[in-house]
This record gives sequence, C-alpha cells and structure tokens, in this order.
Amino acid sequence: MIFTNPLHVGRPNITDREAYLKLVSDMLERRWLTNDGPLVKRFEENLAKYLGVPHVVAMCNATIALEIAARALNFEGEVIVPSYTFVATAHAVHWQGITPVFADIDPRTHCLDPDSVRRCITPKTSGVIGVHLWGTPAPVEELQAVCDEHGLRLMFDAAHAFGVTHGGRRIGGFGRCEVFSFHATKFLNSIEGGAVATHDGELAEKIRLMRNFGFQGFDNVVYAGTNGKMTEVCAAMGIVNLENVDQILDANRVNYQAYVNGLANIPGIKLYTFNSNEQNNFQYIVVEVDDRFGVSRDELVAALTRENVLARKYFWPGTHKMEPYRRLFPWVDRLLPETNRIAGRVVVLPTGMQVKPDDVERICALIADIGKMR
Ligand SMILES: *Cc1c(COP(=O)(O)O)cnc(C)c1O
Repeated sequence: MIFTNPLHVGRPNITDREAYLKLVSDMLERRWLTNDGPLVKRFEENLAKYLGVPHVVAMCNATIALEIAARALNFEGEVIVPSYTFVATAHAVHWQGITPVFADIDPRTHCLDPDSVRRCITPKTSGVIGVHLWGTPAPVEELQAVCDEHGLRLMFDAAHAFGVTHGGRRIGGFGRCEVFSFHATKFLNSIEGGAVATHDGELAEKIRLMRNFGFQGFDNVVYAGTNGKMTEVCAAMGIVNLENVDQILDANRVNYQAYVNGLANIPGIKLYTFNSNEQNNFQYIVVEVDDRFGVSRDELVAALTRENVLARKYFWPGTHKMEPYRRLFPWVDRLLPETNRIAGRVVVLPTGMQVKPDDVERICALIADIGKMR
C-alpha cells in the first residue's frame, strides 16, 4: 500500500484549534448555546462582509436552508434542477411536495444547460435552482434571462461556491437568494451548517422567521416555520475558519497546481479546470476518465482505493437514477445524455489542508501507473 494513512476527499479543514476552543469556552461561560446567540450573529455579519451581500441568515445545514428558501420564494408545482448534483438539491424540493424536473448539463462546465432548462418549462413551473457545481458559477445571466422571460423565480445552490467570484463579484448575491453549505466536507466548514444570502431584506426577514418555527417575538407565530437554527458551537467553527480562509485557499491552490502538473501528460485523464480570470476555491479536484486511459473509471477508483487513496465517483449515478426519482420519473433518463456521460466519467481526488503537494505528486504517479496496467 503506497499511502499508510488514507487520503480522503472532503477531510475537514480545521484552521485554528486554539481560537475555536477559546470561543467554545466563552460560550460555556455564557450558557447561551443556541437561539440566535452572539456567535451566530457574529458569523452572519462576517459572512455578509466577506460575500458583499447585505443579508445572511445562518442555518443548521444547507438542506434545511434550501427547503426554507424554496418555501419563502413560494415555490410550488414544478421546479427545474440539475440531476448532476448532490441529491439534497432535489430532495429539498421533493420534501416540500414540489416536483423536481431534471434538466441536463453543459459537458464543459457540468452546470445547468440553459437550453435544456428552457425545454423543461411547463405551465406548472414556478422556479429554477441553479447549482454552482465544483465552484464553477452556473450560467447566471442566461438562467436569469430564461426566468425573467417566463416569470420564474431563480435561486442558487451555492454549496460548492463559497469564496468564488463571477464577473469579479462573489457568489452569494445572484438570483433571489443563494444557499451555502458549511458541512464538515465543504471548503469552509462549521461542522454542520449553511446559510442563505440575499439582497432582498424582506425575503431575508421571512427566512429568518421561518428558521425559528415562524415566531415573531415570543408568543406570535406568523408562518409555518421549521427548526433551522445554527448552534453556537457550529458558528464558532465557522467564525474561526472564515478568519483563516486564506490558509485553506492556499493549501487548495497549491494542490490544484500540483494536480495540473502531475496529470498533464496522462492519456485519457482530463483535469477539470477553472476560469483563471475569476477567484475559485479549488475544493474539488475533478478528473474525467475516457477510453484512452487503459482502465475504466470504476477500475481506477478501485485501484486507488487499494492504495488508500479514497477517490469518489461524485455524483454517480445522477439524482434521477436514485429513489424516489428513478421510480417516479423513469422516462427522464433518455433526456439527460450529458448528465449520464459525465456521471460515468468523473472521479474526485483528495485535496484540502490534510493533503500535501508531494502526496499529490504520488497520487498522479500512481494514476499514470494504473493507466499502464493493461
Ligand atoms: C453538500 C451539499 C448540499 C447539502 O449541504 P448540507 O449542509 O450537508 O445539508 C446541497 N447541495 C450540494 C450541491 C452539496 O454539495
């Protein structure tokens, strides 16, 4: 086995343990553990400043944040989403009794194809959820144009896109609102966590109330809400990691460059690249494996796993091929050729603060060797 310690995709980035423990210790002293505590408020303010968006509402996780945002935007009937994303994008819609309608992707970006979105529109469509997959912005302007033309509401699942820019502006301010995830595996983690960012003060207030059962003040409930509150321990981790976000970014950038160099001349291996005119977070090292590589994508993943490189087949096989969607919408499979092709080719490789550039060099050499096995 080449690596004695396993290299994981999405190993948590923990930047300043001492600062975190200090915040948690202060929290225990205050005995204010949750319910819009001072750490949650500070995390929200710091996020708003960093993103350049006036309103940020922190949540217990991005899935609940997506559900609350979908409610607050009065989504109903059908909502168009990509299938090629983490399953939570569709689940958040389905869980509200709304039908997710799966559109296909652009094979170059892996993000929604606006023409496919257009073809999915019916009289029942109320909105579109774009996903900034791998931290590449979805086609924001094109999707906005389609939505404006048809009177649809547009929001984004920005779970992969913290710190990413589009046209020089940070993701967080596009569409009606954008939803971030701060899950342990994400670029910026708060253990579990998420947030909704928006320019719309009224929408933010509605989302804030829905996060806390719909309570306005102590005894007055004005909406059907849920419990989407972020805890103080989670906010503490988020605050510390946001203060040190450049450490995470530097580690990811160096690793990405090492992958660019190490994978450059391996036939059948194509590294997914990012627009060099924009900021990216380089959280996902995405490789497409084609026939020119000696072995199949699945054989590559198995061979890497044997050497303790725990690569992942994200987002195989596509949401439309998972329950309940496979059973509910068996016909959509043939409408998603690019989703199926890309889902069959992609491997996500380890990066983050736990992975060093010489680990990356050895991973790349290993991949080259695996390709020569046949
Ligand atoms: C991680 C993720 C989510 C869910 O985030 P949680 O905070 O774990 O609920 C949603 N969408 C995408 C694209 C994700 O990657």
